[in-house]
Amino acid sequence: MSEITTQYAFYQAEQLSRDEIASLQTERLPQAVACALKSPWYAEQLAGLEAEQITSLEALRQIPFTTKEDLRSAMPFGFLAVPLDQVVRMHYSSGTTGTAIAIYHTAADLQHWAECVARGMLRVGVTRKDIFQNMMGYGLFTGGLGLHYPAELIGCLTIPAGAGNTSRQIEIMKTFGTTALHILPSYGLRLAHFCREAGVVPSRDLNLRFAFVGAEPHSPQTRARLEQALDLKAYNVYGLSEMCGPGVAIECSAQEGLHLREDHYLAEIVDPDSGQPLPDGEEGELVLTTLTREAMPLLRYRTRDITRLIPNSCSCGSQHRRIAPIVGRTDDMLIVRGTNVYPVQIERILMAIPETGSNYLITLATVDEMDEVTVSVEVSADYSYDDSRELQALRDRIRQELHTELLFRPQVELVEPGSLPVGEGKAVRVVDNRKK
Ligand SMILES: [Zn+2]
Repeated sequence: MSEITTQYAFYQAEQLSRDEIASLQTERLPQAVACALKSPWYAEQLAGLEAEQITSLEALRQIPFTTKEDLRSAMPFGFLAVPLDQVVRMHYSSGTTGTAIAIYHTAADLQHWAECVARGMLRVGVTRKDIFQNMMGYGLFTGGLGLHYPAELIGCLTIPAGAGNTSRQIEIMKTFGTTALHILPSYGLRLAHFCREAGVVPSRDLNLRFAFVGAEPHSPQTRARLEQALDLKAYNVYGLSEMCGPGVAIECSAQEGLHLREDHYLAEIVDPDSGQPLPDGEEGELVLTTLTREAMPLLRYRTRDITRLIPNSCSCGSQHRRIAPIVGRTDDMLIVRGTNVYPVQIERILMAIPETGSNYLITLATVDEMDEVTVSVEVSADYSYDDSRELQALRDRIRQELHTELLFRPQVELVEPGSLPVGEGKAVRVVDNRKK
């Protein structure tokens, strides 16, 4: 551990004690508020607020939440807190609905971002000897560049492969002995499938040790499949463009939650409906305040991501608190016959059944004025598809397990491997055809 700190001074922040983290937060919070007040939007919203009074989470809670709608309404420069000539990069927040939002970074913002991610990568054992193949999209989306610079900062040979073109990805992995990946979990499973079809056996033909997976909520069962299929350890990476991008929290080798970088982000969990703070351990919406951002500081930003803070410290030794893997986004939550359902709940069931393949689709429709849910899932290529009785038994089993989890009984449709649509980017898991 101390060897890492000798090589990478910024790694010292990983060794902060609980008290040191708390005092850093107390020191940085009023600075963050003062910085935010330099933006036109906060200057207007929080007129009269004394930044130096905001020295605790309780004090911060006088300040209203900032939402994605606020960011959208103030496009393009309403949240910019520095002159434009100090901004060195912008990204877009990937909005599936509505106008995209521009997110700005100063050179210091980019440095902090890279260091936060590099800390997470170093913590699980990445070294400068690693060959890092980044299979996330480069561009306005933060996924690609978000891990590119940290890998270079560590000193890895960094391969900006980008998304897609699976046969070339495999060729690169074989030729250069890639040891670490950054990949969407859904694409990881497709990559594994492609390897199998191409006769590439990861444990024999590849040299993979780590995968950093994120940008899509995914279940532990999906992660386990990915680890097994590609013969590596997979670590969940959490982030959102509004904060920086990937790297707000990253899983450690204990794989029991994602450590926040609390010297840069202050986290709260609130009830998504009432906005009231929830105690540690309770599931709710993650709300984040940036502590060091210069170009676009955000106070009490509602991420819409549902998770919980994990009480107790982690066996890895880090005193930075952990969040549980994201269950879903408040936007993804489906209300089916009065029950709240996240797609990842369905995924968790499907991926725990070895006979299912890695691709699935949830379709909602209105039948006789009732919500009807159909879960289409590919069967595994290993499964004998000819025997209709076996198929029926599998369908019944999936239906029963989904019923236990969801408290209603969806239709289950088994389809042939490779028959559900796949795209290059984030996987589409839900089609809602219900009458509004
Ligand atoms: Zn840990």
